[in-house]
Amino acid sequence: MITKTKVAIVGAGPSGLRAAAELAPALKGGVLVLDREAAPGGIPRHCHHPGYGIRDLHRFMTGPKYARLLSDRARQAGADIVTHAMVTGWTGAGALCVTSPEGRYEVAADAVILATGARERPRSARRIPGDRPAGVYTTGQLQNLVYLHHRPERSRAVIVGGELVSWSAVLTLRHAGCRPVLMTTQYAASEAYRLFTVAGGIGLRVPVAPRTKVVRVIGHGRVTGVEVEDLQTGQRRVVECDTVVFTGDWIPDHELARSAGIALDPATLGPSVDTRLRTDRDGVFAIGNLVHPVDTADCAALDGAHVAEPVLGYLRGERTSGTPVPLVAGDAFAWVSPTRCVPGDVAPARGFVLAWPTEVRKRPTIVARQGGSEIGRVTTSYPVAPGRVYRIPWTLLAAVNPAGGTVTIDLVR
Ligand SMILES: Cc1cc2nc3c(=O)[nH]c(=O)nc-3n(C[C@H](O)[C@H](O)[C@H](O)COP(=O)(O)OP(=O)(O)OC[C@H]3O[C@@H](n4cnc5c(N)ncnc54)[C@H](O)[C@@H]3O)c2cc1C
Repeated sequence: MITKTKVAIVGAGPSGLRAAAELAPALKGGVLVLDREAAPGGIPRHCHHPGYGIRDLHRFMTGPKYARLLSDRARQAGADIVTHAMVTGWTGAGALCVTSPEGRYEVAADAVILATGARERPRSARRIPGDRPAGVYTTGQLQNLVYLHHRPERSRAVIVGGELVSWSAVLTLRHAGCRPVLMTTQYAASEAYRLFTVAGGIGLRVPVAPRTKVVRVIGHGRVTGVEVEDLQTGQRRVVECDTVVFTGDWIPDHELARSAGIALDPATLGPSVDTRLRTDRDGVFAIGNLVHPVDTADCAALDGAHVAEPVLGYLRGERTSGTPVPLVAGDAFAWVSPTRCVPGDVAPARGFVLAWPTEVRKRPTIVARQGGSEIGRVTTSYPVAPGRVYRIPWTLLAAVNPAGGTVTIDLVR
């Protein structure tokens, strides 16, 4: 069976739902959103603390409420949201292959938006030696267990990582009655927002061990502790716990892009996109945490708003000319997004290049270099710090030379 639609969106998280809400009125329906889960909403569905909707809705709400609101808006706009629909690949003709409880079918669309998000790297992929006991989770798994299924009966947790999401894990553990006894981070300074650091100091009271890493998980049947190494001295100690949460360290859910042969960016590991969020395959766009692993949900949703006009333009037959210039991260950043730009074309979503820092600066100056020469420089009043996205004003790249080759974006030291 083949279903035809104008736009197919894979993933009903904040980015996919917002794109659907923007596109459906202009396409009189014609928008089909497919999600493998039982309900739309993506990650916020099982993230019960407040902190959602700030930049896009100018509100401050819990994840489930935010997820419901975005789903309702997409449906009211006329989008068709189909759940329990796992997109497994592509047909030779470019249609999507879908597997659902009703069977397998194909979806042929004039344009496809990939909005499949990102996942935290689990313990197995971090290659941490030791035993294989129960009680070891990612934040996502923990929140699924606590909020969607049951509360794990645990009492002492070690949190690996100090990203924003790590503090989300702290809140979830507290909610489940489990005490976070240590947060480990390989970085020298706190990676999360100052707001969270202060909150950590005042209310949450989680000891943070900077420049450390977990080198062994201990426990037969159930985890009983972890071995933590000081990265400066090499000294090791065992911390007793019955829960370990591996937080952050994101991998984009890029399997569909990869199986289509779409170019992936070696730094983000998501599809390489330009400022219109176009991949290198005609008619296939990519948005949300799939292309910037990870930003907050409101920014993922604003990608959904940003991609609407490029998609509508594509459906009208508009094609932009110009050779894209690659954008790459210098040493101070793990990645930048978007990963290419056509000089003179539209600015990226929200007017920012996103970057994932590897060091801390309170008042950073960022430089863009092309062909060995500096082509732009900006200083921001907000800090740069690992574990959260840093937003670089697009004006940095105002002087990109279309024929000048790769642009490197770095921190001035
Ligand atoms: C623990 C935690 C706490 C967080 N706290 C906050 C917070 O307080 N505030 C905030 O703004 N942000 C927060 N975030 C980040 C926020 O949740 C994400 O930025 C946001 O959900 C990203 O939206 P997305 O649409 O890109 O992807 P996702 O929300 O990940 O949605 C992707 C969707 O794609 C679907 N999908 C994937 N592959 C397929 C496929 N092959 N077929 C069909 N469907 C598929 C998935 O089922 C999923 O529903 C938090 C994240 C985590 C993990």
